[in-house]
Amino acid sequence: MTQDLLGLTIEELKQFATEMGEKPFRGKQLFVWINRGVSDFDEMTDLPASFRQALKEHACIGHATVLRMQSDHKDGTKKFLFGFGSSGDTEEKGSLDAAEAVFMKYKYGNTLCVSSQIGCRMGCRFCASALGGFKRNLTPAEMLSQVLTAENVTGEPINHIVIMGMGEPFDNYDSVSKFLKLLHDPAGKNMSYRNMTVSTSGIIPGIRRFAEDFPQAGLAISLHRMTDEGRSAIMPINRKYPLEDLLAAARDYTQITGRRITFEYALIRGENDREEDVALLKKRLQGMLCHVNLIPLNKVEESGMTGSSRKRAEAIAEELGRGGISATVRRELGSEIDGACGQLRLRQIKD
Ligand code: SAH
Repeated sequence: MTQDLLGLTIEELKQFATEMGEKPFRGKQLFVWINRGVSDFDEMTDLPASFRQALKEHACIGHATVLRMQSDHKDGTKKFLFGFGSSGDTEEKGSLDAAEAVFMKYKYGNTLCVSSQIGCRMGCRFCASALGGFKRNLTPAEMLSQVLTAENVTGEPINHIVIMGMGEPFDNYDSVSKFLKLLHDPAGKNMSYRNMTVSTSGIIPGIRRFAEDFPQAGLAISLHRMTDEGRSAIMPINRKYPLEDLLAAARDYTQITGRRITFEYALIRGENDREEDVALLKKRLQGMLCHVNLIPLNKVEESGMTGSSRKRAEAIAEELGRGGISATVRRELGSEIDGACGQLRLRQIKD
């Protein structure tokens, strides 16, 4: 049987090397090559030829296949639809093992927005990922392959990752956790935890675990509405973890980690962008170590909801600022392409 070596830790690769009759340090060499994005054993020039031959017979290094790529020529944003698995039937309609990632260029470096699941279970009313349904969790190897393949295709290094693609990362906690540790490993990408951010729809046990496990990483919470009634209507997860408990967990997070938390607030015209909504947002976030990221909703036809205007978004950011709450309107990257999570996969299914 062929063993896929992508997504294994140094320890696991040492174990593998030993099982192949090699010295453990060969495992570390493998780890270095794999995390540089090399998938051809012949390129691993510091491994003995006999071991390379054995690897070709018994192992492989998985990778993501680019099913679609859209580029925004103005700002360099690239949106990928990645296929997983090597069966070659990933493009079969309706049973698509595909997830999205978005490559973005910022002044401080390149960021990849990574998916953690194929589809999503959360069912948020405005989100295209929910419409496509839930298929399965992504493995640490599949998350890593999004980074390595994006680097190979763009020819540019990825310095930051945000887990804000398809899926709910805290609904797949263990795999996300292993993925972050792999990225952090000094023999691999050596990415600082400070350059990693995870976004959750509000799974409280996940927030608590994350604060303990990754106190240096960034956390974003999707709020979108500030009453339980309103939030439950668009985010069913709120019935399980209501707002007050969520905000308490957020406060605890800032206390444990000393880090500012990011709140995402997708602006939906007439639904959460009225004066009373802004007043409530101000009131409930008062005194918290936080930043509010305002995102005019990306229209997903099926939802029947529309985004607020950029002008209204900027007015809300100013108003929050006057109330002592740091807020910005998300820079619109990739406006030429399907920017919102799940949109590319949804289109692929419908085409
Ligand atoms: N499940 C996680 C991460 C994925 S979504 C979470 O909910 O946070 C990343 C962000 O995009 C979330 O804040 C999500 O609510 C938001 N989002 C989803 N659909 C959107 C849309 N159509 N327009 C704008 N933001 C959207």
